[in-house]
Amino acid sequence: MFKKMLIANRGEIAIRVMRACREMGIASAAVFSEADRNALFVKYADEAYFIGPAPASQSYLDIAKVINAAKECNADAIHPGYGFLAENPAFAKACSESGLKFIGPSAEVLALMGDKIAARREMEKAGVPMVPGSKDCITGVDDARRAAAEIGYPVIIKPSGGGGGIGMTVVESEAELANALESTQAIARNTFGLAAIYIEKYLRNPRHIEFQILGDASGAVIHLGERECSIQRRHQKLIEESPSTALTEEMRSRMGEVAARAAQCVGYQGAGTVEFLYSSGKFYFLEVNARVQVEHPVTEMVTGIDIVKEQIRIASGLKMNVRQPDVKINGHAIECRINAEDPLNDFVPTPGKITGYYAPDGPGVRVDSGAYSACDISPFYDPLIAKVICWGRSREEAVRRMERALFEFSISGVRTNIPFHQAVMGNANFGKGDLGTQFIERENSLFENMRKIAESGQTLAGRIPQFDERKKRAAVIAAAAFVAGRRGDGSS
Ligand code: ADP
Repeated sequence: MFKKMLIANRGEIAIRVMRACREMGIASAAVFSEADRNALFVKYADEAYFIGPAPASQSYLDIAKVINAAKECNADAIHPGYGFLAENPAFAKACSESGLKFIGPSAEVLALMGDKIAARREMEKAGVPMVPGSKDCITGVDDARRAAAEIGYPVIIKPSGGGGGIGMTVVESEAELANALESTQAIARNTFGLAAIYIEKYLRNPRHIEFQILGDASGAVIHLGERECSIQRRHQKLIEESPSTALTEEMRSRMGEVAARAAQCVGYQGAGTVEFLYSSGKFYFLEVNARVQVEHPVTEMVTGIDIVKEQIRIASGLKMNVRQPDVKINGHAIECRINAEDPLNDFVPTPGKITGYYAPDGPGVRVDSGAYSACDISPFYDPLIAKVICWGRSREEAVRRMERALFEFSISGVRTNIPFHQAVMGNANFGKGDLGTQFIERENSLFENMRKIAESGQTLAGRIPQFDERKKRAAVIAAAAFVAGRRGDGSS
């Protein structure tokens, strides 16, 4: 087993990995940027190395700096978390060339899965059902017209090297095609450094259902059931749960087997996710995420399997601790991503200093976070403050528990999307499990309810003056008036 692991990431996922290290007796080393000097993950690590300015390109994305830090501290393995360098084949290669074990699939598999056109081709060979789409990279407007006409409108144009829902454009008719093509190509070039794009049939309001898989060096691949991630905004997940209310037991094992077989076909080692769209009882391959995902805790809650520890075991050459028949889904888990963003103002990010922080607790509640009172939410990175994961014996219990946890979650100093999550948990169609990727656009009452919830101050924080900005301001004014009154000068 490894002796020391460098975690090439920040925030909650860095802490998540360090927790696994601690339990496994592996020392942990952090790397941090100027913006993260006082971050919790830096304190949590056994040692920490400064690697440069706040912009990720000069620190967390700088392969040479990360590798140098790992060498300097004598680490024998690197965990990349998610985002940043996690799916970068050049980084995986640089690690192995420096004698460091990269915790993840091989550079070849990362390269294959990172190129979505190539991944689609490979998965089709493995017998995985596909959304109808172009087989190759689209070469120009004429090619796009031909492909779209064949597929049938509406279509969606996607960057082949994409991620995070960035650059995808829905096209309803041929008249919109040329402009959409140009804008997606420009975004693809600027964001991913690769102009390659492809076209797929656009499914209306499908469900996003993905399977967690684990593969080890012996060639064994298993799946840990599904997560439904249909509650999204601009193709970005906000709420995830396991199991999905859409699947029968039979469909679950069919999709799980397809996912595991697909991963096996490419020699997948480590933890990964095979994503599908699900519509009218049919499922279609979307992509493979070759890393641990933000939403992995819901699977951990219902299976009891520690996915990060399994990743580490697999990377060290050990067999998985679990076989397919051992995987049992127990109860239901839901995750809400608590972001520093203002849901009442088009979800604009609201970075700043957290002045008060109290996380929910109690039965069936897990919080993964890198935040604490007086920490900074930096404008340079993703505005994720915490993930709240609630488990219940039934879905209904998990939903009620999430409502209770959101009531408790008290954060002051920055606005958060907690009222959004409260509104979703109270929504009748969400309660029925009637979900789709356009849920947020289609549920008209959601925003009105969110506004009411935000204004009502129906949270634990609303009852504690230190957490309530309005009450805090009133208290300061009252104190000033009191002092002024005692001085008798009338100033305030
Ligand atoms: P990314 O890698 O950028 O996250 P994905 O291919 O995983 O992109 O898709 C993200 C989300 O975009 C999906 O969960 C879904 O909501 C939407 N989406 C992608 N492809 C389609 C499609 N063909 N039809 C309808 N929605 C789609």
